[in-house]
Amino acid sequence: MPSHSLLHFITNIINFEGFKATNYHFITENELLIEIENKERLSICPHCQNQTDKVHQSHRYIVRDIPISSWDVLLLVNRRQFRCKKCRKVFSEELSFVKKRRTYTRRLAEKVVKEVLETDVVNAGKRNRMTPAEIDTILKELEADCLKSKPTELKKLGIDEITHLKGGKNYAAVLVDLFHVISQVNKELDDRRKQEKRKIEKIKNQKEKEQKLQGIKNSKYPLLKKKEKLNDTEKEKLKELSKLAPELIAVYQAKEKLRDIFESQITADKAFWKLVDWTESFYKYFPNSSQTIKRWIDEIVAYFDKRTTQGAVEGINQKIKLIKRRAYELTNFGNFRRRVLLNWHYC
Ligand SMILES: [Zn+2]
Repeated sequence: MPSHSLLHFITNIINFEGFKATNYHFITENELLIEIENKERLSICPHCQNQTDKVHQSHRYIVRDIPISSWDVLLLVNRRQFRCKKCRKVFSEELSFVKKRRTYTRRLAEKVVKEVLETDVVNAGKRNRMTPAEIDTILKELEADCLKSKPTELKKLGIDEITHLKGGKNYAAVLVDLFHVISQVNKELDDRRKQEKRKIEKIKNQKEKEQKLQGIKNSKYPLLKKKEKLNDTEKEKLKELSKLAPELIAVYQAKEKLRDIFESQITADKAFWKLVDWTESFYKYFPNSSQTIKRWIDEIVAYFDKRTTQGAVEGINQKIKLIKRRAYELTNFGNFRRRVLLNWHYC
C-alpha cells in the first residue's frame, strides 16, 4: 500500500470534495488508475432522509477524468449501495463529479467541449483519445444541460435589429428625439452667431467693422460642424473667432460638450446626471434646448440604454459569424445551434 502522505497528496490533486484516494496503479505507459472512495461513513436515504451506515454492497466502476501531467487518469470508484435501516430500501450513494451512467467525469466533459470549441472535433478527439461519436454524445449532453437552465438573470432581450425594452418606444423613434434636440441646439447656436454679426454691423468705426465682419464671415459651418471633422482652415476660423467673439465660442463649446455626452459610452444613469448638469450650466446659452431636454429626458436617456443593447446584439451576431466560419464540420443546423449555445457557456 502507498504511504498515507502520498495518498493524501493524490487526494488533494484529484480534489473531489468528500472523496479520498485509497490506492493507485500505473496500468499502461500513459494511464494512471486511481482508486477513490467516499470519506463519509454515513449516507442519507433519498427515500426517508434517514442516516444510515449499513452498506448493502459496493460496485466498483471506472470513469475517465482529466489528465494529470502527461498521464491519462482513470478513476476506480468504489460506489457503495446502502440499505436504509428505517425504510429498508436500497440506494446508491450520489457521486457529484460524474453524471449518472456516464464513463467520464463532468470536468472531463467540460474540458473536451472547450477544446472542441477552440479547435474542432477531430483535434479534440485526438487530444483526449475519444472517437467523434463519443465527443458528439458529450456535446449533446451538455447542450441539454444548457437548455435546462433558465435565464434567471435576464434583464434585456435583444432580437437582432429589434430591441424590446421597458418603455416601449423603438430605437428609431428615440433617434428622432435625439435628432430634434441636436437641431434645436444648432439653431440656438446659429442665432447667437447672427446676433453677434448684427452687433458688429452696428459698429461706427468703419475700419473696425470691416475687420470684424471679415472675422465672422464663413463661420457658420465651422461652428455647426463636429469638432473632429474640422479641417485646418475651419479650425483657424474658430481661433480667430475666439478673440473676436469669445462668448460665441463659449456657446460653441457648450454645444460640443452636449455632443460629447451623446457620443460617450455611458450608462443611462450617468447620462441622466450629465444632461441635468449641462442644462443647468448652459441654460443661459440654450434656453429652448434645455427645456426640450428636460421635457424629453426619459426618452433621451433611453437612447443610452438602447444603444448598449444594440451593441450587445451586434456583438452576439459577430461571435456567431465567427463560430460559423471556424466550425467547418458543422453539417446541419442542430450542430450549429449546439455549437453556438456551448460557446456561450464554456468560452
Ligand atoms: Zn430510508
